[in-house]
Amino acid sequence: MKTITEKILSSHAGRDVRAGDIAVVDVDIVMAQDGTGPLAVSQIKKLGFSKVANPAKSIFFIDHAAPSPRKELSDSHKVLRDFAKESGARLSDIGEGVCHQILVESYVCPGDVVIGADSHTCTSGALGAFATGMGSTDIAVGFALAKTWLLVPQTIKVNFNGKLGKGVYAKDLIIYLIGKITADGATYKALEFSGSVSSGLTIEDRFTISNMAVEAGAKAGIFAADETTNRYLGQRGRAECFKEIRADEGAKYEAEIDIDCTEVEPMISMPHTVDNTMPVSRIDKVKVDQVLIGTCTNGRLNDLKIAAGILKGRKIAEGVRLIVAPASRIVYLEALRAGIIETLIESGATVISPGCGPCVGIHQGILGDGEVCLSTQNRNFKGRMGNPDAFIYLSSPATAAWSAVRGFIADPREAL
Ligand code: SF4
Repeated sequence: MKTITEKILSSHAGRDVRAGDIAVVDVDIVMAQDGTGPLAVSQIKKLGFSKVANPAKSIFFIDHAAPSPRKELSDSHKVLRDFAKESGARLSDIGEGVCHQILVESYVCPGDVVIGADSHTCTSGALGAFATGMGSTDIAVGFALAKTWLLVPQTIKVNFNGKLGKGVYAKDLIIYLIGKITADGATYKALEFSGSVSSGLTIEDRFTISNMAVEAGAKAGIFAADETTNRYLGQRGRAECFKEIRADEGAKYEAEIDIDCTEVEPMISMPHTVDNTMPVSRIDKVKVDQVLIGTCTNGRLNDLKIAAGILKGRKIAEGVRLIVAPASRIVYLEALRAGIIETLIESGATVISPGCGPCVGIHQGILGDGEVCLSTQNRNFKGRMGNPDAFIYLSSPATAAWSAVRGFIADPREAL
């Protein structure tokens, strides 16, 4: 009887492994982005390799500073472009979008082992893969050998049951969970999401939840691969890679956490930690200077659609900057064709190129001293958006959109 993690890692280790075992596993997909990739490339070369073991599934993403705002970053981009050419690895260049979004759109299949030099690699767990972030040196070995080693994590099962209320979304659930278990509540564990609400979530909602598993310290955040996964892969023209993956009845969990979603309200993470959470209805009036809707957490089509639904026929408040960063070129095009981008721009939004945007504080919306940003991203640490003297709050796209209209953090249920 195995958890999803034990099943996937056993199949990639060529033997039966259990939580607590050390395993050397085959890796299906390896990736690095423009912040971590140059170090991975120099490590690969130091190891004496000039090629990657599995070129079709070794990807370098240029998404964090895309297009480049500085010559030093342009030089890093060159390193990745040159090495991809030399080694046969794939390159996802500026304008394609955020690494984690492109992985789920075009690469990851249920049952895969995915490693990435980026902490939110756990996003791909929503497709029933074991996906985790690692440092550039481990990733270099992954690129060179298509193998890695790890301690098979214990699993915590999270049961989302009950019913989602009006104005409550996947982002609120994961903020609520992290507030409950804290930022280190799942350190080096796999979170396995289950329960009636989990099975009813859209695949995009699952991406949001898996994306933030690492904010509770988790090694991975996994959903069963089911009919929803199958449908999504079919829409992406990848139906052939679907296989059902579920935990066995009687699998052993380190703990189980039951969340009654009926009790969850629209939630906020307050400065400067993700687990500093509060229902939106209970926070004092906080004026916002900037609102960001996008990132690998909430820059997908449905996120933009929810925001546009609130912003349609309305204008953002005076003194507020609303920045929208579609998570990928595909999302951008779909949102354009659906008239969503037009609605956002008419409301006063500034739409920037697909990618990380201002999330990591390199460009495209760095905050001024004392300024407040409400963002749909996954982290709000001091300095995260480029200024240690600014304040970052996290929320769902609905809360972000409605707050941009009001000019202060506001409960999206008022707009629905
Ligand atoms: Fe990291 Fe933000 Fe980019 Fe996601 S959008 S990969 S959290 S910088």
